[in-house]
Amino acid sequence: MSMNNYILNLLNIEDKNIFILPNIEERIIKNKKYKIIERFLTYNPDHCPCCGCINESHNDIIQWGYRKNCKIKISKISNCFSLLILHKQRFLCRNCNKTFIAETSLINRNKNISNNTELQINLELMMKQSEKDISERLDVSVSKIDRKLAEISSHTVLRHASLPKSMNWNEFKATRDTKGKMAFIITDNDTGNLFDIQDSRKSIDLNKYFRRYSKAERDKVKHISIDFYSGYIFLAKKLFRNAEISIDRFHIVIQAYNALNTTRVKLCYKSNPNYNKLKDYWKLIVKNENDLSN
Ligand SMILES: [Zn+2]
Repeated sequence: MSMNNYILNLLNIEDKNIFILPNIEERIIKNKKYKIIERFLTYNPDHCPCCGCINESHNDIIQWGYRKNCKIKISKISNCFSLLILHKQRFLCRNCNKTFIAETSLINRNKNISNNTELQINLELMMKQSEKDISERLDVSVSKIDRKLAEISSHTVLRHASLPKSMNWNEFKATRDTKGKMAFIITDNDTGNLFDIQDSRKSIDLNKYFRRYSKAERDKVKHISIDFYSGYIFLAKKLFRNAEISIDRFHIVIQAYNALNTTRVKLCYKSNPNYNKLKDYWKLIVKNENDLSN
């Protein structure tokens, strides 16, 4: 085994087109000590990804310099952070006169975290620990861990194995880091407990969320109480065929209260000689009341 393959094997890198430069230096970056490993990536491409031209004569596609200094975070070496500086070969296709960059299985295009580290994040997320702990151990940002968790959760994780037989849908103003401005909340009408919260109330997201439950499971739902929002009514009818849909008492009372209050204030101000001036003020009051009730 050559020295290059020996080091690649040690670093768990399968791409044999990566060649390691002999010097490994140490550098302090943002108060952290890094081992800097410099490598270059080159090979003889089979074809041009731009036009599909086959590289038969070794002269159809020629080497055309390097894209230098691509920084890639790789797994720790002996408990020391490691950074790979990769110089990627650029090629020129004589047929279409376009250039392209060498690809590697070590990392996906336009990413700076190696696939091995991405996999390591997934494995770490299976254990009970904070995102900050994982972030510090693997030297990636907390937001990166958070995005990864959201990505996995959106495809696979269900908070509960089954849906409540009777549930209530509503929304509330979400925090800034969520997907939509309003978050979606589901409560179990039988127990009065919170069932789940989704960070968006958009139909497309809710459709995706409820479809993670099988059709048989959705058919077991007998009752859904919602507000007057037409999107919920449409979704409930579409996905829960056996469920009876009703408008919950809270929203009916709120609507009646708002209508009564609006009429009361209107009459009150209409009798005032300065009605037109006070009109805007009255509109503001109604708006605030509506916001509060939502
Ligand atoms: Zn080409």
